[in-house]
Amino acid sequence: MFNGDDRKLRTARNLVLIVIVTATWLAGLAWIRARFSPPPIAVHPSAADTYVASKATDVFHRGTCGHVSRISAEDVLAYGTRAPAAQGRKPCPACNP
Ligand SMILES: [Zn+2]
Repeated sequence: MFNGDDRKLRTARNLVLIVIVTATWLAGLAWIRARFSPPPIAVHPSAADTYVASKATDVFHRGTCGHVSRISAEDVLAYGTRAPAAQGRKPCPACNP
């Protein structure tokens, strides 16, 4: 009876330890991934002959505009010519595309 309870207690303690170790390991993995993932600017088109717009705003830019780096990677829209970029959008006052 006593031995059985002791074993149950040890099993529970081991389970808690496993959960803590796993959680710490996952948190460390997430930190490493956040620390070493390339910055979003790396995926942005920045050639002078491209036009860039954001899904979140109604302004379009030249690919070289400083505002382009502030558009998040999932919102960025790139165009090779001005016409489709300008459709329904206002030109950026900073880069005057
Ligand atoms: Zn601009």
